[in-house]
Amino acid sequence: MRGLLPDVTGFSYFDNNATTPVSEVAREAWLRATAEHWQNPSSLYRGAGMTRRLLEEARCELADYFDVEEGSVVFTSGATEANNAVMDHAARVGGDGDLVVISAVEHPSVREAAIKSFGYERVRELAVDEMGCVGLSDLQQILAVEQVALVSVMAANNETGVIQPWQQIATLCRKQGVFYHCDAAQWIGKMELQALGECDFVSGSGHKFGGPKGVGFLCLGTTVVEGFQSQVGGPQEGGRRAGTEDYPGVAAMMAALRERQSEWSVESRDLRLQARRAFEKRVGEELAEVALVAQDAERLWNTVMLILPAAGPKNIKWLVRLDRLGFAVSTGSACSAGKGNPSHVMEAMGLDFDQMSRVLRISGGWQTREQDWMALADALGRVWEDLKSGGRTGNGREEF
Ligand code: PMP
Repeated sequence: MRGLLPDVTGFSYFDNNATTPVSEVAREAWLRATAEHWQNPSSLYRGAGMTRRLLEEARCELADYFDVEEGSVVFTSGATEANNAVMDHAARVGGDGDLVVISAVEHPSVREAAIKSFGYERVRELAVDEMGCVGLSDLQQILAVEQVALVSVMAANNETGVIQPWQQIATLCRKQGVFYHCDAAQWIGKMELQALGECDFVSGSGHKFGGPKGVGFLCLGTTVVEGFQSQVGGPQEGGRRAGTEDYPGVAAMMAALRERQSEWSVESRDLRLQARRAFEKRVGEELAEVALVAQDAERLWNTVMLILPAAGPKNIKWLVRLDRLGFAVSTGSACSAGKGNPSHVMEAMGLDFDQMSRVLRISGGWQTREQDWMALADALGRVWEDLKSGGRTGNGREEF
């Protein structure tokens, strides 16, 4: 197959918010664990006991990163499952008629789970400003007058990279005695972890930071929530989540997270931020008509959302041309990309349909160097020049 498929794991991969390449340490950890520690951790012989011990060590390590009790970590199949479980739990333990408050830019696994667990009429959505950021005063007002079971606001948005004021929200909710859930799928691995332990629930996903797909976690924070139970059918995960535990998946996810944590520093984050800013500047020079979504907002160091020139074609044509040049980018979140649905995030930020059809999401990774960002900026410039100079196909028809 080599040579037939484009290499999407190299430096031209700019879709890390959809998923990240599995890091070498994660792959090695997975291979080792599947060869040596494949036993069911619930079985009683010594081999299985070792797998159990390693699983519990991984749980301890993860709890340490968040500075919470070890028993607070529940391994799941990813952030979607964790988000669904939080909504189910909050609806179950909350009072009759209690509301759930979410932001207008939450991932569908929070929005749709909120509606499923609470019912449409019990979901309140916090509006965002044109930068895609929720307003604390709106939340304060709701908390002052309504009975709320749970507030759920993500740490950073998957489409725009915009960082939400989640630490202030956690403090506000704690003062009001309301549970706070933070979907941190895009934050973990890219930013510092510890303060997340102050949230009552934190969702994470292994494949967003170099781990394999199909493994993630829910961290129950410093408040160990009594009676938490997601899926039923077995006593695994301390009775909190039934189903045979996937130790190789957990081992690989933890190896990836360990690598991310060992490399994390304020300096490295700032260097990456500088590289992204240099890209944004270069793109502005290459394509004078381009706009940046949430340009002045605090954003993850890896994410840029562009609105391509109005005089040009829709985003998908750019994506195809960039792909041919060896750059993998996205037209939006993977969950809505290619489905033709307008993005609820863009809608909440006030973009019109025409603008939405011209957005490109570019999300670098830990492997992305400044020269890779620059090469992408140059490629965008090349595509634009080509499009402007006719952009004609071989049969002479206009491409847009
Ligand atoms: N939340 C956010 C913010 C995400 O970006 C994603 C992945 N697109 C998810 C949840 C779902 O994660 P998973 O793929 O682990 O189910």
